Amino acid sequence: MILQLLFCPILFSYLYQLCHVQSLKLNYLLLRSRCDYCHQQLKFINMIPILSYMMQRGKTRCCNHKLSCFYIIGELLALLPTIIHTYMALNVNYAMFLLIYLFLLVFSIYDIQTLTLPVHVIIIFIFCGTFITHGNLYTFLYIATLLHIFYFIFYQVIGYGDILLFSILSYLLPYTMFVSTILMTFLIAGLFALVCMMVFHQANRKIPLVPFIFIAFNFLIIFNEPLI
Ligand SMILES: [Zn+2]
Repeated sequence: MILQLLFCPILFSYLYQLCHVQSLKLNYLLLRSRCDYCHQQLKFINMIPILSYMMQRGKTRCCNHKLSCFYIIGELLALLPTIIHTYMALNVNYAMFLLIYLFLLVFSIYDIQTLTLPVHVIIIFIFCGTFITHGNLYTFLYIATLLHIFYFIFYQVIGYGDILLFSILSYLLPYTMFVSTILMTFLIAGLFALVCMMVFHQANRKIPLVPFIFIAFNFLIIFNEPLI
């Protein structure tokens, strides 16, 4: 369990940093992480998640810049799958749960920051997903077609990254879980938009959708929707 607790935040910060790489070369996947500001290679001690953030007081050791608070938020949230899986009797395939959880977490944070999704990391997600599971090819073809038709008609209300992500989830998740995820996502996002509109009077403000997909996915997992 301790190894898993260490592994998940490391994987999160690696994927999160990968999102911000502009041109992905294959050898980047093997290189050690670099500072976001001066691009120096990080020392091993500076790559220990959570602990290094606290020891460095939220700043880079090499050039003393303030680190994004999303590192510590994401690293702490990356601990949850191991805790949930250890202490709750869930009907899930742990590898699949971990894969979807970590990628949705990374995409949520990136979406909050930029209102976009990094295509190269989506490709890595597809690659890992097809490696772990056989998936539901026919469901994927049917859902992806419907989602693309929806996008071409209502392209102003949803981003193409969200369409891609829903399509991938239709391949990875069991059908009932996928339908529940999509319904719950729009329910929570709709409620959030309504509250924003009533409280802050911001009717036209764009909101990132992936955090709501992430919340819906976890809500369903905790309430024991099977993910096998
Ligand atoms: Zn630096």
